[in-house]
Amino acid sequence: MQKEQFTFLNNIREHKLIIFGSPLIEEEEIAEVVDTLRSGWLSAGPKVELFERMFRAYIGSKYAIAVNSCTAALHLSLIVAGIREGDEVITSPLTFASTANTIIHVGARPIFVDIERETMNICPFLIEEKITNRTKAIIPVHFAGRPCNMDAIMDIAKRYNLFVIEDAAHAIGAEYKGRKIGTIGDFTSFSFNVIKNITTGEGGMVATDNSDWAEMISIYSQHGMNKGGWKRYCDKNFSQYQILFPGYKYNMMDIQAAIGIHQLKRIEQYHMRRKEIWDTYNEAFKYLPIDIPSPEEENIKHSYCLYTLLVDPKKIKISRQKFQEKLYDRKITTGIHFTSLHLQQYYQDTFGYKRGDFPNAEYISDRTLSLPLSPKLTDEDVDYVINAVREIL
Ligand SMILES: *Cc1c(COP(=O)(O)O)cnc(C)c1O
Repeated sequence: MQKEQFTFLNNIREHKLIIFGSPLIEEEEIAEVVDTLRSGWLSAGPKVELFERMFRAYIGSKYAIAVNSCTAALHLSLIVAGIREGDEVITSPLTFASTANTIIHVGARPIFVDIERETMNICPFLIEEKITNRTKAIIPVHFAGRPCNMDAIMDIAKRYNLFVIEDAAHAIGAEYKGRKIGTIGDFTSFSFNVIKNITTGEGGMVATDNSDWAEMISIYSQHGMNKGGWKRYCDKNFSQYQILFPGYKYNMMDIQAAIGIHQLKRIEQYHMRRKEIWDTYNEAFKYLPIDIPSPEEENIKHSYCLYTLLVDPKKIKISRQKFQEKLYDRKITTGIHFTSLHLQQYYQDTFGYKRGDFPNAEYISDRTLSLPLSPKLTDEDVDYVINAVREIL
């Protein structure tokens, strides 16, 4: 490792840096990972199965298939839904690259629909005008953990016979009209990447109620083999596996699930801490010349994955980047969620998207800045962040 990187890691260890998205990892996870390492079985096995079972029980979906990222979860959902070359899939441009990249991976075309400024979610009333006879699916992204208008989206999907594949990378624990995200659309993809509400280091999950799709996703995640590694090497039954189709290497490992099973147990506790920090930020920033997240609609439960400020350089007299740099100088790292995908070079060059196409997504994209929001933060950390923001402004 480079000397510089060592210093960076040491700074984190000595709590000298407040790292955006740094997760809270407790002794139980550490012990469980060590137990896995000592057990002799590290890859997909009993701990992945336990994690899937706990996840299903928590979400209330009939099936849950663990994979190695939310990106893999989205990719496999698209494949199993039969989306392919020549098809179109509607989604939000204000999302992480993988939402749209996976549409391209299956050979289809991402069709962006602008967002609502307040919720930062896809505007359902703009969806219908983008539907053609090639449209096969909608991928709603529950931005920052605030559920999309699912009644309107499900209604459109039903009328046009489209799949609904939810990107719930931010939305574990979120609810829409009393229903958990993961029980509404055809497929829902979750992420356990470090910056999300619970983590396995890297990891993902697909929730679905359809047994055929669940089985296909499971097979696809293990090279298209009809028996996973655990069954091949640890079962008494030594019959050979068959390759049913050329699948992918997308399985989760027991080392990852070892972290997840303890994180999942604490999800409500973490949610309450996230809400506490969220409310403290809202209160502290409400009279400053920056915009705080708009109030939640009734009938939803927000999962508080990202706390996004809107920074307008005209109001604060410095650029967003400068603001970010000044926070960094005070040892606080931040994130941009997201640069709208239609402003990214590949999407412009390939699909002809340009600035001006999605004014609301651009408005957010140009101003958004995510502050640290993790149950790992102490009250002192939260105060420190608040004072740093005040000082800079
Ligand atoms: C993080 C994220 C993903 C990808 O999750 P990975 O588990 O890192 O693959 C997808 N969509 C959104 C909106 C995200 O924020």
